[in-house]
Amino acid sequence: MVIDPDECIDCGACIPECPVDAIFADTDVPDSEESWIDRNADESIDAEIAEGDTPVLASD
Ligand code: SF4
Repeated sequence: MVIDPDECIDCGACIPECPVDAIFADTDVPDSEESWIDRNADESIDAEIAEGDTPVLASD
């Protein structure tokens, strides 16, 4: 899963929904994971948009 940084409104709703605590606000990303900020932005350009009943998870 990637998050489009241009579409994200920083509401934080997805953070507690992640079952493996893998989502951080960009200001809270641990130093050891900072490379993911640019990778997420790059991969979000062509990513399929998730659909479903939650802000972050597709239903299927
Ligand atoms: S749910 Fe997560 S990805 Fe969606 S707008 Fe809120 S912080 Fe951004």
